[in-house]
Amino acid sequence: MNSQQLFRRSRLQLAAWYALVMGGILSLSGLGMTHVLVQANWVALEREIESIAGTLHDSLEPMLPTSDDPTEVLQQIFPDLCIANQPCETNPSLIQRHTIGISDRTTYYIRLFDSQGNLLAFSPNQPESFPATLNPTAWQTLQPLAGSRYRQFTTILHSAAHPHTAGEPSHEHPSWGYLQVGRTLAAFDAELQRLRWILGGGFPLALGLIAVASWWLSGLAMQPIYQSYQRQQQFTANAAHELRSPLASLLATVEATLRLPSQQDVPAMLHTVERQGRRLSQLVADLLLLTSLEQDTSPKPPQPCCLNDLIADLTEEFSELATVSDIHLSNHRPDAEIYVSGYESQLYRLVSNLIANAIQYTPTGGAVVVNLQAQDRKALITIKDTGIGIPAAAHRQIFERFYRVDCDRSRKTGSTGLGLAIAKAIAQRHQGHLTLQSEMGRGSLFTVSLPRIHS
Ligand code: ADP
Repeated sequence: MNSQQLFRRSRLQLAAWYALVMGGILSLSGLGMTHVLVQANWVALEREIESIAGTLHDSLEPMLPTSDDPTEVLQQIFPDLCIANQPCETNPSLIQRHTIGISDRTTYYIRLFDSQGNLLAFSPNQPESFPATLNPTAWQTLQPLAGSRYRQFTTILHSAAHPHTAGEPSHEHPSWGYLQVGRTLAAFDAELQRLRWILGGGFPLALGLIAVASWWLSGLAMQPIYQSYQRQQQFTANAAHELRSPLASLLATVEATLRLPSQQDVPAMLHTVERQGRRLSQLVADLLLLTSLEQDTSPKPPQPCCLNDLIADLTEEFSELATVSDIHLSNHRPDAEIYVSGYESQLYRLVSNLIANAIQYTPTGGAVVVNLQAQDRKALITIKDTGIGIPAAAHRQIFERFYRVDCDRSRKTGSTGLGLAIAKAIAQRHQGHLTLQSEMGRGSLFTVSLPRIHS
């Protein structure tokens, strides 16, 4: 499987997992919300029925007739109810909505039963298919043969002659009869149906959006990994390329040496072999240093390092090379010592790479100035030269590994293109920055900024 396929598959897997988790969370919260909503509506509906039944119960009980045939009295109390086994002719004008507390008579129905469970009276709007026998269960959901469901509440009625005293269990007290209040669930069911439609339609749509978002987000997440992978690939290719040239020339020198007719030229050839071997060894050491800097795994803790001493030492060290190249190398240091926390050998390497470059890329007669100063909480080291400068187009890539502005020239001088990459990695390892200002033909200014500590 090539890397493209691998990344595509990983992206697909990531997107699938993301969609699965998001879809799961969305379904759970959607179902939970729906359940809570339905439950809240249901409780409100039952409370409403219970409150109406309670009002009716309290207003009815004092008026309940004690006679065996309560029809006449019931007709007086509920002139709009139909009396069982009698023709039902209700006159809407007689409906006393306010007295019985039911404003919407199409929504509610009332039924009255005697203590034996025989139907005495009922609202004319009760579904016809409802049985005329009593089911004393308090709460029931009824489904008529046609039309919507009903929720029904049953409560016991006690007549004024046998009042029900508080604390007395109702099943031990002889009751007058039963009152049933029912409410149509048409509106509730319609609302439920609407919710189901919204969920049924909205859920696949939301899942589709999640799938698209997952694919896009997994692409975003994979991007830095892919870029890092590509950089790694590029680095391996560059490193192999850099190693190949000195190795090839080393092998060619060895072969030529072996074919030499006389031993006279052997020492000179061996010197070439040694030089190429050293270059190879330097290249491998630089690569290892870069890797260790990136992995950030130093067994030793950082130490306070005095930058004044470091600048003085390095200027002295490079003075000979500068003199040979006819370049004026100088430094400016403040009297007060400036300390940073870090690894001295690495900081030496950082500044020496910059000074070496400044000398290397400055023509004879030029000048290199190393300056150290404290600024706020920072220590600033600048290396300024009057050299060939770096074209603006190269400023962004200059710190990349193996990048050289003039490849041919750099290779001839034996440079590897790793110097600035190492310098930047060291600066970053010390929580610092390395920046460049340069103008072609006028020189370059490299600035290292490191967090200062008080010694
Ligand atoms: P090298 O080993 O080639 O010097 P570096 O990473 O140190 O590698 O530098 C990368 C490239 O940056 C060099 O090849 C050179 O072209 C350019 N460069 C670095 N420092 C300077 C400078 N002071 N003046 C001009 N060019 C420079």
